[in-house]
Amino acid sequence: MSVVVDAERELLDEIRRIAGEVAAPVADEVDRDSRFPIEALDALRSAGALSAAVPDALGGPGASLEAIARCCYELARGCSSTAMVFAMHQIQVMTIARHLDGSPWYEGYLRDLHREQRLIASATSEVGTGGDMARSIAAVTPSEAGELEFEKQAPTVSYGAHADDLLTTLRRAPDAESGDQVLVLTRSDQMTLEPAGAWDTLGMRGTCSPGFVVRGKFGPEQVLQVPFSDVMNQSIVPLSHILWSHVWLGIATEAFERARAFVRASARQKPGEPVPAARRLSEVMAELALLRGEVSQALADFIAFDTDPGRERLMTMASVLRFNNLKLAASEQTPRVCGGALEAIGILGYKNDTPYSVGRHLRDALSARLMVANERLLATDATLLAIAKEA
Ligand SMILES: Cc1cc2nc3c(=O)[nH]c(=O)nc-3n(C[C@H](O)[C@H](O)[C@H](O)COP(=O)(O)OP(=O)(O)OC[C@H]3O[C@@H](n4cnc5c(N)ncnc54)[C@H](O)[C@@H]3O)c2cc1C
Repeated sequence: MSVVVDAERELLDEIRRIAGEVAAPVADEVDRDSRFPIEALDALRSAGALSAAVPDALGGPGASLEAIARCCYELARGCSSTAMVFAMHQIQVMTIARHLDGSPWYEGYLRDLHREQRLIASATSEVGTGGDMARSIAAVTPSEAGELEFEKQAPTVSYGAHADDLLTTLRRAPDAESGDQVLVLTRSDQMTLEPAGAWDTLGMRGTCSPGFVVRGKFGPEQVLQVPFSDVMNQSIVPLSHILWSHVWLGIATEAFERARAFVRASARQKPGEPVPAARRLSEVMAELALLRGEVSQALADFIAFDTDPGRERLMTMASVLRFNNLKLAASEQTPRVCGGALEAIGILGYKNDTPYSVGRHLRDALSARLMVANERLLATDATLLAIAKEA
């Protein structure tokens, strides 16, 4: 057994413990009060899990994408919001690690993140462009003091009030085209987040994702230098779709397991008699298997594409279609599984105070279609399908 595999196994054991003993017991309260799952984040910090993806060359554990994805899945079994916060943070960490291109500032930042277990939020969506990752309105702007600054109207910043740092998409300069973007990382002491609205939502309530007007001041070394299209196609989009899907798979699996527990309890109450709900449960199991198959295959595909020299394969239209398909399929299938679990359980699943409640899971799952609107992805795919040589 290699040291890396041992370390990843230890990480997963600890994540399972946090999911079951820390996150799950307060998941209903986090949801009801729309509050940040602070105990779970504290536990993840104590376990050093926030820097799990920091490469070993920079002093971190260098956990694999498979291990991080599995952590997202396990956390989601306990609390969807905790898992989504963890997933979004890891997407930022991995994106920086994959594209820092030898930048001393970014290398130093990841070392600090590992030592201090810093939490990164992201501001990519924007009032006026919505979830269109390919365009920005806010721009990197020279300040009178000779620094750089920006002001961005961000409609949805998950855990913005709890994060240490923020990764923001901006136009490269005040006169740049909307598609000429860069990524900028600002530390908490370099920015202000002025609240712009509340976060009283149907689901994913513990992600605490209201709007903010974000203002930042920073040095030129904090602008990630690699072309934004590379960062978006090679990392942000596929990694987001992979880690989000693992969160959604965890939510769907938990809903299914609650339905299975209900059917077993029903069978124990009337030994020898058929349990009508078992038939519906069998259908839900088949739907869950489809979801699991797509999520696993997409992860395997990413790993295969990523070994390509220069990551060229991740830049193809076929790759964009492949990871958009994952997001579309998983975000449709997850609420289907949760809804099926609800139908199998019946009223005890609909009530919020039974061991078989799945209302929270269903509500959390409905956010999946909106985390970058499926309609937007379908429109992109429709254009690419007309010109892509292979899909
Ligand atoms: C739980 C949660 C957490 C989030 N956290 C963050 C975060 O931390 N940081 C962040 O930056 N963002 C975050 N988001 C925002 C998210 O990623 C999306 O960018 C955002 O939800 C898009 O806003 P919108 O629904 O108004 O969609 P828009 O993209 O503005 O679109 C609005 C509607 O118009 C339609 N539409 C738009 N474009 C097209 C098109 N081309 N073709 C057809 N129809 C179209 C769609 O029906 C869509 O629903 C979060 C979202 C959720 C649900």
